[in-house]
Amino acid sequence: MPGVARLSRRAFLASAAACALAPLVLPRGLRAAQPPAGTQVPAVYRTTVGGMEVTALSDGWFDLSTELFPGADPAAVKAFQEGAFLPGGPLRTSLNTYAVNTGERLILIDAGAGGVFGPTAGMLPKHMAAAGLDPAKVDLVVLTHMHPDHIGGVATAEGKPLFPNAELVVHEAEWAYWHDDAARAAVPDDVKAWFDGIRQAAALYPKVRKVADGAEVVPGLTAVALPGHTPGHTGYRLTSEGETLLVWGDVVHAPVLQFARPEWSIAFDVDADRARTTREAILAEVADGRTLVAGMHLDFPGLGHVARGGEGGAAYTFVPVKWEHAL
Ligand SMILES: [Zn+2]
Repeated sequence: MPGVARLSRRAFLASAAACALAPLVLPRGLRAAQPPAGTQVPAVYRTTVGGMEVTALSDGWFDLSTELFPGADPAAVKAFQEGAFLPGGPLRTSLNTYAVNTGERLILIDAGAGGVFGPTAGMLPKHMAAAGLDPAKVDLVVLTHMHPDHIGGVATAEGKPLFPNAELVVHEAEWAYWHDDAARAAVPDDVKAWFDGIRQAAALYPKVRKVADGAEVVPGLTAVALPGHTPGHTGYRLTSEGETLLVWGDVVHAPVLQFARPEWSIAFDVDADRARTTREAILAEVADGRTLVAGMHLDFPGLGHVARGGEGGAAYTFVPVKWEHAL
């Protein structure tokens, strides 16, 4: 194909000439028409579970000190961080929420932190807009638990409900705990402030549905009690057309540590022993069942599978989903 060769050679010479001339004719500052953005692109990821459309929406992130895992051996922590090509020191932790469009209802599982976790969180409204989701069209806000980084985002900066048409759904034991004055009296002052903030946020919603373990919230979305982190901490199992996703809330806070060593609980657990036995049981169940899981503090989009075993004598390894090019 001599014609093509001639054309390529001519094009090559033209571009080479342009490159040689560019420094002479363009002032340095004008070379890039598009300056670097300096910020990350919107953290939104979409997948399907049977006939349901699931959109992972990042609320942002925060850094967790490794000292929040009092049972963890510092040398092993360092080794797991190195093995994952992570720097030492605090663990950068995702804060995820999941919108589920069942075709009949738009459901948001957890609402992120809103304004209560500083400027690295509270990005849910921005990411809902990027995903084409309107907060006014959310029918249900389903909470895995009521910690501030999961319920804070139900309120706007002005203290109004962000989801004006939504009903709140939460496990009955979770609601009871955070509304129990004796429980509030028993905790340190900084945690008392959590009780107050949680009650304020929940009070923005006149419609609240309290559910028990196994309750069907809507067809195909079932509550799965996973107690320990908080008394009513709950996962939600989505099932449609033979496919399943378990949104497990805060079973794991530090993926780099707790898949490898499920016995390492975080200091925020209301009942650390129960959180540990819950984590050990659900990890075994989803690993053996090859169940797709989503977690609020797994690295965004926080969707993947759990495999038994791993590097450094790990009990389990998290295997993130691959990017899906089409739904
Ligand atoms: Zn959390």
